[in-house]
Amino acid sequence: MTNTDTADAASTATQVAALANAGSQLVRITVNNEDAAAAVPEIARRVLDLGVTVPLIGDFHYNGHLLLAAFPKCARTLAKYRINPGNVGSKRRDENFSIIARIAAENAKPVRIGVNWGSLDQDLLTQMMDANSRLSEPREARDVYMEAMLESALRSASLAEECGVPHNAIIISAKVSGVPDLVEVYRRLASRCNYPLHLGLTEAGMGSKGIVSSAAALAILLAEGIGDTIRVSLTPKPNGDRTEEVQIAQQILQSLELRRFNPQVTACPGCGRTTSTFFQHMAEDIQTYLREQMPVWREKYPGVTDLKVAVMGCVVNGPGESKHANIGISLPGTFEEPKAPVYVDGKLKLTLKGDSIVPEFLQLLEEYVEQNYSLDKRPALA
Ligand code: SF4
Repeated sequence: MTNTDTADAASTATQVAALANAGSQLVRITVNNEDAAAAVPEIARRVLDLGVTVPLIGDFHYNGHLLLAAFPKCARTLAKYRINPGNVGSKRRDENFSIIARIAAENAKPVRIGVNWGSLDQDLLTQMMDANSRLSEPREARDVYMEAMLESALRSASLAEECGVPHNAIIISAKVSGVPDLVEVYRRLASRCNYPLHLGLTEAGMGSKGIVSSAAALAILLAEGIGDTIRVSLTPKPNGDRTEEVQIAQQILQSLELRRFNPQVTACPGCGRTTSTFFQHMAEDIQTYLREQMPVWREKYPGVTDLKVAVMGCVVNGPGESKHANIGISLPGTFEEPKAPVYVDGKLKLTLKGDSIVPEFLQLLEEYVEQNYSLDKRPALA
């Protein structure tokens, strides 16, 4: 999701393109006021001009029914509308929700019904809490809260269908910020409906806390076969790289072997046998090199995402791990002879020495990719 001012079409389009180039397959933009709604067609045009085709999803809160009705070009341009049923209006909730759903149906757009426990429908929650308190054995408040999230999502989905949105054009999410709660709420959702589910730990936080929590939550659900689209919501550092959350999301899917986006680099953690930082720099250089090549490699070398590269710190596990990779290097540990054997497809190919180990290894890597993934080098089918 972008974090630019949507009304600023130029900077929003630039960020949309950056997210798409980083691998995002859907990009959500907030459409929070008239200027933002008016800017949507311009954003889409600019994104196309940047050579990027990616679906743009409009994120609506409070005034989506007004904006979509007043800005039909915005409604036509967006590929999907995200509606939060908790904040479409308290007095006219169903009426406002229905306006959005009907516009979606008229424009043949899918909707994501995105419930969030930070903005849960308070009337519904109050009703359900009251009903629970009248039970002879009331359930725990957490349990009722989760049921209220499910009820809000599933009631809204039924209403969307009544308004003409096809069943298969409805996606549901129910985001919370705690890992066990997220797992629980999605397990319940998956057992009660067959709508596609969008997963995400909301307000995951910053840095390693946000990354680890998101990975922990999404991995459990994805491994159980729950989830159709995902988002990692990280609080960026000031002026930080917004594409980080795309990289994390890709890595979660790649680590679970559900999808492949980039060649996988296996690197050992290092230990007292690697007292210099040379090995750490090399692992980072190779990772960066691979990431930078991917926009071109993806087109030029189909299947290159299956490539496995090993960068190992010493002789203990280096040769063994390198042999399991397509191409691997085992660097000399402290007190070892200063040479780095390179293995290709499990066999020792050559040994690198001296100050140019990194560029020479990258050259070998490039040659390996060219020889094994280039369309020109593959045998033609008769
Ligand atoms: S491969 Fe060598 S340097 Fe790397 S963690 Fe194992 S023993 Fe340490």
